[in-house]
Amino acid sequence: MNTQTLPKHARVVVVGGGIIGTSVAYHLAKMGWNEIVLIERDQLTSGTTWHAAGLMVTFGSTSETSTEMRKYTRKLYESLEAETGLATGFKPVGFIELATDKDRLEEYRRVSAFNRYCGVNVQEISPAEVKSLFPIAKVDDVLAGFYVKEDGRVNPVDVTMSMAKGARMMGVKTFEGVTATGILKKNGAVTGVRTNLGDIQAEFVVNTAGMWARQFGEMAGVNIPNQAAEHYYLITEEFKEMTPDLPILEDPSSYGYYREEVGGLMIGMFEPVCAPWKVEGIPNDFSFGEINPDWDRMGPFLEKAMNRVPMSMNIGVKKFFCGPESFTPDLRPIVGEAPELKNYFVAAGLNSIGILTGGGLGRVLAHWIMTGTPDVDVTGFNIDRLQVYQSNPEYRRTRTVESLGLVYKCHYPTKSYETARGAKCSPFHDRLKAAGAYFKDVSGWESPDWYAPAGVKAETGELSFGKMHWFPYWEAEHKAARENVILMDMSFMNKFMVQGRDAGKVLNYISANNVDGKTGMITYTQWLNTEGKLEADLTVTKLNDEKYFVVVTDTQLRHAETIMKRNMEDAHAFVTDVTGAYGQLNIQGPNSRKLLQKLTNTDMSNEAFPFRAAKEIDIGFARVLCVRITYLGELGYELYIPTEHCLHVYDRIVEAGIEFNLKHAGLKALASLRMEKGYKDYGHDIDNTDNAFEASLGFAVDLKKENFIGREMALKQKASGPLTRRLLQVFVKNPDVFLYHAEIVKRNGVAVGYVRAGSYGHTLGGAVGLVMVEAGEAITNDYIDNAKWEIEVAGTTYPAMVSIKPLFDPENKKIKA
Ligand SMILES: Cc1cc2nc3c(=O)[nH]c(=O)nc-3n(C[C@H](O)[C@H](O)[C@H](O)COP(=O)(O)OP(=O)(O)OC[C@H]3O[C@@H](n4cnc5c(N)ncnc54)[C@H](O)[C@@H]3O)c2cc1C
Repeated sequence: MNTQTLPKHARVVVVGGGIIGTSVAYHLAKMGWNEIVLIERDQLTSGTTWHAAGLMVTFGSTSETSTEMRKYTRKLYESLEAETGLATGFKPVGFIELATDKDRLEEYRRVSAFNRYCGVNVQEISPAEVKSLFPIAKVDDVLAGFYVKEDGRVNPVDVTMSMAKGARMMGVKTFEGVTATGILKKNGAVTGVRTNLGDIQAEFVVNTAGMWARQFGEMAGVNIPNQAAEHYYLITEEFKEMTPDLPILEDPSSYGYYREEVGGLMIGMFEPVCAPWKVEGIPNDFSFGEINPDWDRMGPFLEKAMNRVPMSMNIGVKKFFCGPESFTPDLRPIVGEAPELKNYFVAAGLNSIGILTGGGLGRVLAHWIMTGTPDVDVTGFNIDRLQVYQSNPEYRRTRTVESLGLVYKCHYPTKSYETARGAKCSPFHDRLKAAGAYFKDVSGWESPDWYAPAGVKAETGELSFGKMHWFPYWEAEHKAARENVILMDMSFMNKFMVQGRDAGKVLNYISANNVDGKTGMITYTQWLNTEGKLEADLTVTKLNDEKYFVVVTDTQLRHAETIMKRNMEDAHAFVTDVTGAYGQLNIQGPNSRKLLQKLTNTDMSNEAFPFRAAKEIDIGFARVLCVRITYLGELGYELYIPTEHCLHVYDRIVEAGIEFNLKHAGLKALASLRMEKGYKDYGHDIDNTDNAFEASLGFAVDLKKENFIGREMALKQKASGPLTRRLLQVFVKNPDVFLYHAEIVKRNGVAVGYVRAGSYGHTLGGAVGLVMVEAGEAITNDYIDNAKWEIEVAGTTYPAMVSIKPLFDPENKKIKA
């Protein structure tokens, strides 16, 4: 029972008193804000937090943000007792991850090198060392263990209570038994929370309602597509060999993790095929709740998990526990300001790592709320990457079956989601399928990744970290783009029509480059935030003085739309998402001009249709927008075709293409071609922690323009002298090396950065990637040329080459030909 009276006003109301809400409130207070109120429907921890197993592990992620959050969290849980007087139950017993097959060994070697770079003390140990640390484990099939001595476990309830106490000591008011029943809003911004005990006016509201977050979000029209799923652990009776000092053991190939629990063994599970729970809605009165275990479904997985500690099969089961945890469509949390509602923040969908990232996540969100911009890369978990269709019950029911299981699958870099497929198809889909496309899921779009030649099935085959069976098909597509002409479906790109008398003015204010020049011209630009950091990377085509065509990448639909809408409030400018109204075909390669000239009466010559020109051209019976631009580094064109004309135009192109040996190319080729040219991909190799100059994108920032968001900071960045942090191209001339992400780059033996995104440069003849080098000194040609460069891939170090300018066509001769 609350004895305090609910205030009528607060600066921030946090809704939900699990680990996440408590951490957000604690950090807001710690970082200096007051008038923070936390309301909890029942008791603190009564949702998912109370039954978590409490693993506190820093190993395992190739996201810098996630790894830093884990490190911060561990440190916080270690030190919280001294601050609050309440213990967190943190026990640094150590953690071991087992690799039992060659692909997992490769994966964990890649991950451990990255984690070490981030400051995690992870060591590869032998099966015998595993056995000596965890004697009751079977190790005959173990290839290696990955051991972090400083990791361990906490008691999730104690951690939450300790943080709540710390928060209260700093002035936060926490209320149990208070349910948020609605949201107050005005002019597109949140103004407060309605509760069962009255309204609280507030500047900010934070939705940390765990598995209820989606339902609570719906009350405010905010899209939060998380979904609860059954999540299990088993606890055996006590036995003498199970001592509390044993480390935590994790064996993804057996679907299990293992730790001591009151003298018995706890076996936690991530089964490969899982069961969503209460898709129709989470009951409002589910507190400290348990789900009846499904023994039949779990039996085979449990048997496999127990087999790792054979002794456990002869010990009685004290408890087989099932509780709900919320999962997201891409296994990454849902964090940030809702695009639908200003000052409404969300931190939910923790995918079973809410305890071990909770401290760090609270800090990140508090900083974001207080300053308006995050201080870590949030492109992977920003709420605005998710789309409204992903809240559809059938989608959630279908995708969630896959998501929990992904936690323990081997994370092959080329794997695509297998569930909830076919949600979005481009108009060309059936034709591309007939042409041999292997499709992957690109923000829900079925997009061709590569094409199988006639007689070969378009199947990914056995996954690996090395050369896949489709490598030669990919290579042929890449070479066709460099030497001849290709057709590529890019319909997944998001397209907006921005119209109105002020449309150009507004877009020019948002854009760092001048996008309001000549009519009939495309401009590549960055959008910056007030810190001068990158918010979006896109093109704007001026169709006329009151009409602009904006194209952004698949993950930035709602991000870009929100930036535009929020800057248009008082202007005569209107944005419409026209993504589905146009199919996009890219015709690229040295023969692209000749091919298009066969199809249209428009003069396609270099003089009449120069680089960056945009014109409507006629193809067959259709009129399409043709823009001369490239993301592959070739002479090329992007065609934006009204959906109803798509098949007709496609057929005409393919027919005319016979003479040129036109080849279909997929997204693998897109990745390898653009990477050779050093072109960036927002959210993959550039993000909100970078400025344009560090990313070699200064050419897309027009400092002569008088007024645009981020200009002041961009001027300072430009004036601040030589860059000490810089995105460089890295190239490895060894045909056996494959770069994907997180490989460590060394200069004179010292790690200076990691590959943000990698591919294979079929023209350059080796793996190629983009690496953000943090040098602490000026990164000049001298710094690069007078040093030995190497790259570490899965435990082996290879010679490498780095470059400021792209290694392929640095003078841009091909694109302007
Ligand atoms: C079996 C199991 C084992 C796990 N093991 C681990 C582990 O070892 N390590 C790890 O890191 N994670 C683990 N997890 C995951 C972890 O427990 C969760 O990620 C974490 O607890 C989520 O915290 P939360 O604050 O988001 O949600 P919750 O703890 O569910 O908190 C949300 C709170 O919001 C309240 N609420 C909801 N709606 C309203 C409303 N309208 N008004 C007011 N209050 C509201 C609820 O009552 C609830 O208390 C495990 C989960 C399970 C199920």
